Amino acid sequence: MSAFIAELTRKDYRLTPAQVPPTVVETLDPAEEAELIARIKRLLVKQDATLVAHYYTSAELQELAEATGGYVSDSLDMARFGTESRSSTLVVAGVRFMGETAKILNPEKRVLMPDLNADCSLDLGCPADEFTAFCDQHPDRTVVVYANTSAAVKARSDWVATSGIALELVRYLADRGEKLIWAPDRHLGAYVQHETGVDMLLWNGACVVHEAFKADGLKQLRAEHPDARVLVHPESPLDIIAQADLVGSTTALVKAVRELPAKKFIVATDNGLFHKMKQAAPDKILLEAPIVGKGATCVSCAHCPWMAMNGLRNLARVLEYGDNEITIDEAIRKRAALPIRRLLGFAKQRQRVVLGNNDA
Ligand code: SF4
Repeated sequence: MSAFIAELTRKDYRLTPAQVPPTVVETLDPAEEAELIARIKRLLVKQDATLVAHYYTSAELQELAEATGGYVSDSLDMARFGTESRSSTLVVAGVRFMGETAKILNPEKRVLMPDLNADCSLDLGCPADEFTAFCDQHPDRTVVVYANTSAAVKARSDWVATSGIALELVRYLADRGEKLIWAPDRHLGAYVQHETGVDMLLWNGACVVHEAFKADGLKQLRAEHPDARVLVHPESPLDIIAQADLVGSTTALVKAVRELPAKKFIVATDNGLFHKMKQAAPDKILLEAPIVGKGATCVSCAHCPWMAMNGLRNLARVLEYGDNEITIDEAIRKRAALPIRRLLGFAKQRQRVVLGNNDA
């Protein structure tokens, strides 16, 4: 690893605990759940709609998406699926930037979301006006932004990156002699910089879920379970990544649980991913990596508060009334499509699975 210390923006763009909503998971009695599922199935047909859900949403939403010809994956793969879907409406169960990405790539489709307040601390921590001003101060740097950003921030970027392709892309740009701005995740940026040694200015944002993993607690849990392999998403801090047997995107972590010979895994990512991991490898034992604070004192409690805003009730409502449609100014949409398409071209050129293994 390089000894170069990446430079962070002076302003701290991480959210304070007061800015993070509580994680409220929808609870339904079995009769209501069954009625909602039946109604949503009818409405999906009636509205010519397909449900696309992120790995971090509830097991019920993931199962409903798969049972109705929809899809469960990471954010760009969700958007890729949307481009292949024949439905005129996509319902995106996830967070807002995912709905926006789906709209950027599928402008002719109607894109709905169960809750437009479902945001992301990385997106919220990277306001487009401040980010634009920062980029303007460094005109000699190539601007690389993570998928977890608004359409307006993507529109100011040269490249969109995903966690699965970040190392390869940054090395490619550095080989062309380019110095970088990386936004908005300081931890993913620090990891990439640590691995590549590339000159990167890092935006000082973070994911409230991954930033909360606790190095001391992880060390202790590893000592209690020496037979467990440690899987870490690279939005986690470096002292968590340093303890990993494997660092990877959500798709890569699911694949690791399925394919590695170990029986037991300690997992440092949103615990919503455990549903897909259990489906992929029902015989494996999954342990949550410890977080800062417990019960009432933890901020996200290893589950994204914004992802938890997606539920069966608001999904049924949005299908019924067609509200919560994603709209993007056309000039911004067109400009934001460029760095996404550039990423797709890069991945294709490298003969990688274009979108399927790449995202947060
Ligand atoms: S888990 Fe973190 S990165 Fe993902 S949507 Fe939630 S806040 Fe954003």
